[in-house]
Amino acid sequence: MKFDMNNYDLSLSHSDIGSNRHLNDTKNSSGWSEIDEWGPEKVLQVYDPDTGMKGVLVIDNTSTGPGKGGIRFAESVTPAEVFKLARTMTWKCASAGLPFGGAKGGIIANPNKVNQVEWMKSFAKMIRPYCPSQYIAATDVGTTELDMAVFAHEIGDMRACTGKPQELGGIPHELGTTGYGVSVALRTTLDFLKDIKRKGLEASRPLLDLTNSLDKKSNDIKVVIQGFGNVGSFTAKFLNELDLKVVGVSDVSGFVYDENGLDIPQLMRDMSDKSKLSDLTLGNNQQQQQQHHNQRRYSYNILEKDEIFKVDSDIFIPAALTGVINDNTAPNLLKNNVKIIVEGANIPTTPSADQYLVDNNVLIIPDFLANSGGVIGSFVEYQGRTEKEAFDLIEYKITNNVKRALYNSISSRDQGDDTLEVNVRKVAMETAKQIVYRAMLLRKGAISVAREAYARKERVIY
Ligand code: NAD
Repeated sequence: MKFDMNNYDLSLSHSDIGSNRHLNDTKNSSGWSEIDEWGPEKVLQVYDPDTGMKGVLVIDNTSTGPGKGGIRFAESVTPAEVFKLARTMTWKCASAGLPFGGAKGGIIANPNKVNQVEWMKSFAKMIRPYCPSQYIAATDVGTTELDMAVFAHEIGDMRACTGKPQELGGIPHELGTTGYGVSVALRTTLDFLKDIKRKGLEASRPLLDLTNSLDKKSNDIKVVIQGFGNVGSFTAKFLNELDLKVVGVSDVSGFVYDENGLDIPQLMRDMSDKSKLSDLTLGNNQQQQQQHHNQRRYSYNILEKDEIFKVDSDIFIPAALTGVINDNTAPNLLKNNVKIIVEGANIPTTPSADQYLVDNNVLIIPDFLANSGGVIGSFVEYQGRTEKEAFDLIEYKITNNVKRALYNSISSRDQGDDTLEVNVRKVAMETAKQIVYRAMLLRKGAISVAREAYARKERVIY
């Protein structure tokens, strides 16, 4: 899948892909230190003196379509964070082959401490000129389908966002589309490892070791999930349906752990009227009363939230915050025998921790592949199609994309190289960059370049 543009007189040559050359050139003049050859195209900081609302919109790259990305509503939101999330969306939409670019919104406040509806309306009003032509919103941390209803009405266009309530023709993220996609990504990875043996694929010694160490019944494969919100809870639900053993889930309040495997359907039922895992202890009285009525009593072993980094597991799924797998926590994951990380959260792994883990033969399925279920579902909603079609398309696309990245990773190894060399992030990122780069050429009007590239079949096939 070589993509050689060096023969053409274009300001962005193939050798620039992934380099920081343009970043250094523009750093001082733009005042926006993160700018590079891919974007961002627009950075908008908004403030509404009437409500006090402060927000950020970053439209990173729209060469593949209007920028798509959720609105994060949290005190910790910064322009730099919104930019990084917008960039992740650029690669995510390209990897998934969707006609969307990358963008992200952010509202800077704890949604529980402000008038959430007023602030959402205010944010919508401020960014209205860009919706939906350059920005199509969705939910993210701190926002739900109800916020999307408010946003769409304020913009005055139902196409301004996805993840809307079903009454507005939406496919809410609350149906678990992202968590479903994370489970598909893990299932595909485990199938790939089985295929190495079954099909006798040529693999390095560490990859064969990894395959052997996971060659056990699915309900002996231990999974822990950090985060029990939208992504984490549905990931747990769908992994449980795949018969994998979820031994621990954590949230901001604690870590629920059972080395023999949690009863996920029961946990989800018990959590239905609670807002955090530590509230499960509050149910004890009621549970005891139930016991008097000869019903089964469930008691949970609730530890400190960071104990999640201290228990033995085969698979670790971050589904909460950015940067949680870092130089401090990555060595613990290794010590606890983690072999696969599937990134449910956006940017959960710092670059140095990523390198350390890959060097130590941990297989990482990156965020822009693993958690693309939400945006694939959004695309189906945008087209006015059904929930069933959303789940089908998520399964189809994530299976193919993860499989392609894994196969490409092992086939791009140097002969005789005995390192694991399954750097899925690197390989999948290169594919995404090729797609965005070609779209940028087409937008530029470099039709002849694109035509020749197509004639040479230099296309990424889905
Ligand atoms: P959410 O707000 O529903 O849930 C977040 C969870 O993380 C909560 O359970 C919270 O208690 C927990 N958490 C917060 N701080 C924690 C800590 N220090 N330790 C452990 N847990 C902690 O958010 P979400 O929608 O599930 O999103 C989670 C992540 O997935 C984010 O990074 C988001 O950007 C990403 N993501 C979400 C979607 C989606 O469709 N919701 C799609 C793609 C990516």
